[in-house]
Amino acid sequence: MKTHVRVLVIGGGVVGVSTLYHLTKKGWRDVALIERTELTAGSTWHAAGLLPLFNMSYTVGQLHKYSVDLYKRLPAETGQDVSFHVTGNLRLATSRERMDEYYKYCGTANTIGVPFEVITAQRVKELWPLVELGGNADTPAIVGALYHPDDGHIAPADLTMALRKGARSAGAEVYEHTEAVAIERTASGEWRVRTAKGAEISAEHLVLATGNYARQTGRLLGLNVPAIPVEHQYIVYDESPELKAYRQRGGRELAVLRESDKSYYLREERMGWILGPYEKGAPARFADGVPEWFGRSLFPGDLDRLVPHVEAATRRVPALEHCGIKDIVNGPISYTPDGTPLIGPAWGVPNVWLNEGHSFGITAAGGAGWQLAEWIVEGEPGIDMLAADPRRFGPYTSKRYVVKKNEETYRNVFTVHFPDEERPDARPVKTSPVYDKLSARGAVWGQRYGWERANWFAPPGVARRDSWSFRRSNYFEHVGNEARLMRERVGVIDLTPFTKHEVTGPGAEAWLDRLVANKVPAKIGRMALSHALTVRGGIRSEFTITKIGEQHYYVVSAGAAERYDGDYLLKSLPADGSVGLRNITNSRGCFVLAGPRSRDVLAQLTDTPLDNTAFPWLTAQVIEAGLAVDVYALRVNFVGALGWELHFPVEYAHHLFDALFEAGAAHGIGMVGMRAMESLRLEKSYRMWGSDITPDYTPFEASLDRFVRLKKGAFIGREALERQQAAGVPNRFVTLEVHEVTDADPLGNEPLFDKGGRMVGRATSGYYGHCLQKSLAIGYARTELATPGTELAIEILGERKPATVLPESPYDPDNLQLRA
Ligand SMILES: Cc1cc2nc3c(=O)[nH]c(=O)nc-3n(C[C@H](O)[C@H](O)[C@H](O)COP(=O)(O)OP(=O)(O)OC[C@H]3O[C@@H](n4cnc5c(N)ncnc54)[C@H](O)[C@@H]3O)c2cc1C
Repeated sequence: MKTHVRVLVIGGGVVGVSTLYHLTKKGWRDVALIERTELTAGSTWHAAGLLPLFNMSYTVGQLHKYSVDLYKRLPAETGQDVSFHVTGNLRLATSRERMDEYYKYCGTANTIGVPFEVITAQRVKELWPLVELGGNADTPAIVGALYHPDDGHIAPADLTMALRKGARSAGAEVYEHTEAVAIERTASGEWRVRTAKGAEISAEHLVLATGNYARQTGRLLGLNVPAIPVEHQYIVYDESPELKAYRQRGGRELAVLRESDKSYYLREERMGWILGPYEKGAPARFADGVPEWFGRSLFPGDLDRLVPHVEAATRRVPALEHCGIKDIVNGPISYTPDGTPLIGPAWGVPNVWLNEGHSFGITAAGGAGWQLAEWIVEGEPGIDMLAADPRRFGPYTSKRYVVKKNEETYRNVFTVHFPDEERPDARPVKTSPVYDKLSARGAVWGQRYGWERANWFAPPGVARRDSWSFRRSNYFEHVGNEARLMRERVGVIDLTPFTKHEVTGPGAEAWLDRLVANKVPAKIGRMALSHALTVRGGIRSEFTITKIGEQHYYVVSAGAAERYDGDYLLKSLPADGSVGLRNITNSRGCFVLAGPRSRDVLAQLTDTPLDNTAFPWLTAQVIEAGLAVDVYALRVNFVGALGWELHFPVEYAHHLFDALFEAGAAHGIGMVGMRAMESLRLEKSYRMWGSDITPDYTPFEASLDRFVRLKKGAFIGREALERQQAAGVPNRFVTLEVHEVTDADPLGNEPLFDKGGRMVGRATSGYYGHCLQKSLAIGYARTELATPGTELAIEILGERKPATVLPESPYDPDNLQLRA
């Protein structure tokens, strides 16, 4: 065994081996993998081998597409067959909501180039003659289906062996029966791994791809990895006479069938079937680690959980009735609280990478290995990987939280994924101090990064609940009232979850300046919207940087980016101790006070002059507000109104809240939720980090040129921006008014088309602009089509709607209200 490699992958399932393979594809040949027993011994050996291209996520969809394409070419490349049956994949729909979900997915599929067809029930019958079209209470009528002709199923062990062959032929080493039992950092900054046999191997980079063992491997490095497996079972049936007869008549292998509304999949297996349900009540396992006795074993089958799905499947495919059950396979399947894997850097430790938490790991392995290898070798991934970045979760992912969320995610694999869905389990977990006060005002809660956030406020007499939908729903009118309140009088938004860092020390300014594209404010009381870029020039983070005092900056970013940004800032700190970094997210709350009357309200709480001369737009002061001291008042907001963000020591939350409402009563003050904020910020063309601004787009593409100072000196991403400027910016940010909308506004991830029907861009967000009374989308289009007045089309739930490019900031384009 080698004693030193450039990258050591721990874990020989399909995901680890794919990572190894892709590292060699990137030209890194001094790489090795260790596996505690034999390759595929974890979840990989018993997987059903399905490769569904369907995924609502823009990121994961791209990974799956890459995998399917790779698996088709692997046999020719490696000489190892992988038994890829390109049968196609049929997802049935028995309701309008389900068809809406499929149509919403089609928008994403279009933008990433996944082939699909939306088909009728009649066509389902042609493709799948053994299916019953239904039409009664037990077996509802099929109203349509989504068909992917390009995917199917594969032999997971063969796939792993093909990837191993490819990796080995390029120089990679694979050591089986080699378990990592201890990991330490060497004086030179490398990682030294001790194996159960007492051998040692050191590496510049470590990849953890240990499937069900993710928590115990993470613990070797002090990481609390939010991946805990859940039981997943499938039934293997004997030969089916009907299927056999159909095949003998020359019928082609049937597509993998999914009846989403009954939560199961069905595929052919040796003239019989494999039926896999996603049941209610499937328990999480191994929250404290996989016990020694488990090894390659499975759990006993649990027929009670299977029965409802077996009955539903038998009604839909009566041929199932005539074949016996050969086997039940019940194995652990790794899950994360949102069902998306953890692919990318581990937090807090350098050069440690996770490829964990895969619940569709056979499907994702190719793409996950591809992007992780890209990230390790190039320093960043080639596509926007925010949705899979392990740092999207934070320290709040306790064991019990992960168990509850993973069980919830598992049982919801097949439920309709509404865009406004807010799942209830393990909540509330993180709350603002004024949570109860907001509840008393009718808050209807959602959750992001563990934080409860009020999505909207139900007025007295209105039920505090959502009817989730792809279309305008029960809260539409109330959200509109909140938006108008903000525009016409004064509203409060509780944005306590904001990520907040304090940056201090003699090196603070120079260090921040190198991290971001904008000029860091040099004067106390000034602030700058700033973007940290990737080396390729994409936008990795957005910070509002305020100079609070000499050598003292207050850095605010998205609430969901606490660990993502915090880790980046921490890892970028200079080694000379000239910069101090403190995460103060939980010690400061934030209320946004905005609207034309906001000055009148705040003036009652403070002696600090608030007029435009004393306190102009885009400046900050440390003020007293009511009885609260040390309040950072930032004259800026995300809704485009006169107003202040008040960032206060958290112990004043109750006092400040009450004081604002007391002072605001005469001005008609009220609470405003996240959904109204979405409407308001779209009217101002404000980009949201994570959806509208991502590593896929440079600040030039995002038309944020005014926040880029190419001449200020070196900063990360500058060279890439200069190259792009010289070559021409391929896409530009657009704001669109969408016409002919009746009840379904754009929500993001919709494709844009030109007059000739060619896809020319994508919407990244959308909502109804309640004050403008327009359906709005923002996104990216090819530069030549981004000028105001251009006529495009946008596809919303399967229908193309005309859309006009508007000038930026359709509401108050001159920012008169912000400056009022
Ligand atoms: C019943 C069932 C059906 C499934 N069907 C499908 C399907 O149809 N399609 C699909 O896409 N997915 C399916 N899956 C999920 C799929 O099996 C997993 O997502 C995938 O196998 C995960 O691969 P992995 O490499 O991440 O993990 P694993 O295959 O579990 O590999 C992890 C490896 O790490 C090794 N390891 C752990 N700790 C150490 C250590 N300290 N040192 C060295 N090695 C270590 C383990 O021995 C193991 O071999 C199914 C899962 C189950 C349970």
